Amino acid sequence: MKLTRKVAPKVDPQNHDEGMGRRQFLKSAGITATGVATAAAFAPSMMRKSQASEYVSHDVPTQVKRSICSACAVGCGIYAEVQNGVWTGQEPAFDHPISKGSHCAKGAAEREHGQGKRRVRYPLKLIDGKWQKLSWEQALSEVTDKMKSIRKQSGPDSIYFMGSAKFSNESAYLYRKLAAMWGTNNVDHSARICHSTTVAGVANTWGYGAQTNSLNDMHNAKSILLIGSNPAEAHPIAMKHILIAKERGAKIVVADPRFTRTAVHADLYCPLRPGTDIPFIYGLLWHIFDNNWQDDEFIKTRVFAMEDIREEVKNYDPDTVSDITGVDKKTLFEAAKTISENRPGGITWCMGGTQHHIGNSNTRVYCILQLALGNLGVSGGGANILRGHDNVQGATDLGVLFDTLPGYYGLTTGSWQHWSRVWGLDYEWVKGNFNQGEYLGRQPMTSPGIPCSRWHDGVLEEKKNIAQADNIRLAFFWGQSVNTETRQNEVREALDKLETIVVVDPYPTMASVLHNRKDGVYILPACTCYESYGSVTNTSRSIQWREKVIEPIFESKPDTEIMYLLSKHLGFDKQFTKNIAKTDTGILIEDITREFNKGMWTIGMSGQSPERLKYHTMHWGEFSYDDLVASSGEAKGEVYGLPWPCWGTPDIGHPGSTILYNTNLHVKDGGSNFRARFGVEYQGKSLLADGTYSKGSEIKDGYPEFSADMLKQLGWWDDLTEQEQQQAEGRNWKTDLSGGIIRVALEHGCSPYGNAKARCKVWTFPDPVPIHREPLYAPRRDLVAKYPTYEDMRVHRLPTLYRSIQEQDFTDKYPLQLSSGRLVEYEGGGEETRTNAWLAELQQEMFVEIHPTDAAARNINNWDDVWLEGAEGGRIKIKAMVTPRVREGLAWMPFHFAGFMSGENLIDKYPDGTAPYVLGESANTALTYGYDPVTQMQETKCSLCQIEKA
Ligand code: SF4
Repeated sequence: MKLTRKVAPKVDPQNHDEGMGRRQFLKSAGITATGVATAAAFAPSMMRKSQASEYVSHDVPTQVKRSICSACAVGCGIYAEVQNGVWTGQEPAFDHPISKGSHCAKGAAEREHGQGKRRVRYPLKLIDGKWQKLSWEQALSEVTDKMKSIRKQSGPDSIYFMGSAKFSNESAYLYRKLAAMWGTNNVDHSARICHSTTVAGVANTWGYGAQTNSLNDMHNAKSILLIGSNPAEAHPIAMKHILIAKERGAKIVVADPRFTRTAVHADLYCPLRPGTDIPFIYGLLWHIFDNNWQDDEFIKTRVFAMEDIREEVKNYDPDTVSDITGVDKKTLFEAAKTISENRPGGITWCMGGTQHHIGNSNTRVYCILQLALGNLGVSGGGANILRGHDNVQGATDLGVLFDTLPGYYGLTTGSWQHWSRVWGLDYEWVKGNFNQGEYLGRQPMTSPGIPCSRWHDGVLEEKKNIAQADNIRLAFFWGQSVNTETRQNEVREALDKLETIVVVDPYPTMASVLHNRKDGVYILPACTCYESYGSVTNTSRSIQWREKVIEPIFESKPDTEIMYLLSKHLGFDKQFTKNIAKTDTGILIEDITREFNKGMWTIGMSGQSPERLKYHTMHWGEFSYDDLVASSGEAKGEVYGLPWPCWGTPDIGHPGSTILYNTNLHVKDGGSNFRARFGVEYQGKSLLADGTYSKGSEIKDGYPEFSADMLKQLGWWDDLTEQEQQQAEGRNWKTDLSGGIIRVALEHGCSPYGNAKARCKVWTFPDPVPIHREPLYAPRRDLVAKYPTYEDMRVHRLPTLYRSIQEQDFTDKYPLQLSSGRLVEYEGGGEETRTNAWLAELQQEMFVEIHPTDAAARNINNWDDVWLEGAEGGRIKIKAMVTPRVREGLAWMPFHFAGFMSGENLIDKYPDGTAPYVLGESANTALTYGYDPVTQMQETKCSLCQIEKA
């Protein structure tokens, strides 16, 4: 074969100050420029550069593999061209039902993962300050010996399992199972710090904590309110769907503290102060109620406690809201009128809404707005919450979380018994792996562990203050980089204090280099998703099957194989893989899918067998770009990716649910109603739906969730087969492993989870009705007394500060408000994307956006070096971008950078040849304390800082 090397991009990893990226960036970053995101999204021909093969051959047959972009949760389709086992070319899949031939810059550069220039090539260990090569066997033996020794001294909770939003569904499920069988709930992943508040807030409002409608269905919206969301940069192909709606006449309203590249496309822009989402939404509701624009019939029949909201909204008249939010009264009125007059309308939010110490209240108030307008369960409406990483939805669904088992079953004894049955194991054996003690009133097995946002507090906090036997002493950082967490100085201190750090990743993420240590660090090379196969769930619940594109490169291994090997070394591989066939290299991935299918009844992730998912991927061209439904082929009538709930067992052939809570469809066709999740009454009032039900329901009113007893009361028990009756006896729809209860409910047109009202009041949360609270680092001291934060409290295993921070006034020393967000070129902590030459070339500098007035007051010119100091003293040296797209008094930073720490360049600490092309200061070095009391989401959008010329 003849191989021709093409020219590599000019990026000098040792010189981050110069280069085309900076000039190009400065040129393209003006407030009216549409920028890289939309250029890439809407002009596929412009993306040829990154599709160029490094090795081109004209005499070797090309295999085309189907895969899904790993850079975000939109889930765009890729045709990967492979010659002789080398990934030589890439095309955006022209017939993919979600992306239809478009990729953004990140998607177009995905092939680079398969080249691996900066990948970790073999297991490494830091010894006396030098990285040394190890065999896999030696590395795993040393790591697991250390785990066993810590377990003996401190118990299983002293090991931390940081997981990944880049796991396939199968890897995510297996990782949660690995932590469970080790005996800890100290397992979590980056959903904690991106959308945990969405999951908690939305699920507690109407049943499921996920996007309600598909991306494609956004075409049908008559208006879209985007709040704290910038899809033009963060989710460019989702933005394409939004712009299709705009082309069809939808009104676009953007509420954001920055005039973003999404705001450029808005019909109306609302420049609100960070952290004032609740007053802003209540301000809209004030006008909606004042003008009788609400949907009374919808509220009467399908919503609980809207009257409590009406009471609260009285406190948010236009003058008050304008004062708190900074949005003028006319704009506020126009926004309320626009979304009221243009229904159905959708709402979209991202981390601008979620990453707050009151994030759970923010997400609930967004839902409440949609309930008031009757915008749920309809095409063109919904809460279209864009998730970040490619499988953050799936990793959340499959329980890589500190407070639940897969499928949101929680951590009760009943939940453990359910999963023990699925695993085919004795519950007592599973229980026996946990520490049996009680710590500050909590039992380790049934109480949430330590969240990923605060793993470092689990290391540093005084032992007597933590509700577990001992501090964390060894941590896995598997597919997640620690520069994503706020308070980087404490993160570094915790890395220094840990006895052992185990990084498992294709790239050496920050836990490998941020510390000041000379030993006790391992890096185990994991494959990218393109070197394995399995399923991945996109932001709107469609599950796609990735083919393996190439074999694992260098000595890297798939996540599933590494987990299996760990279980072997730890001595529980037989239990761990009891239902899973073994292969030459590890375990059969399809069997993992089949196993979680048998337990995931709660969200209907039970009907998506590997065979059905593979069919959908291999025939994605048969599914409509308008509604995702197949009009021909074996899957005719099914929705692309069988979006959950895909009820029952695979053999009943449920088509999946493209729009949640849609009563206009029969439940067998994907219809449903709000979930009866919170009981049947509250304080004497019924929580069940009032006279509404999904099409074809034989129960013509609200009803509770289905159980064996309910089937008997309804006279439907005999619809079960004898075998189903045996398994269903004494159980409910969530724990009946036969799926019979669900099957019979569907046969009678009913939703297995019942039929209830959505609720505006969550009586188990600190703020049952959402109320505004000023941030801990409050910029408006005059508002603190009226809108104070919470009292300091214990949240799960850790003491958590609120008032003791907010009562101090930091505004003299730190007068600027500080926020963070995403760039189109990079994603997450940025390790993968800054290691990608094609992307690195586009954006080479960490910077802070500062308003011209604030810059002038500090004698700062555009692109000067500046020191930015956060309110807890974290300092970073970065470039200043002087731009009016941030409000006066606000500074904004991208959060994708790392590799510098307070001016110190860490490049020499990386293993040879693995440093990302672009290094920079982490925004999170300057960002500060603040955690949502329900989910422990970190506050990254409302802090304080000062900026001075360097
Ligand atoms: Fe699509 Fe997201 Fe990949 Fe861009 S990063 S190509 S929007 S999946």
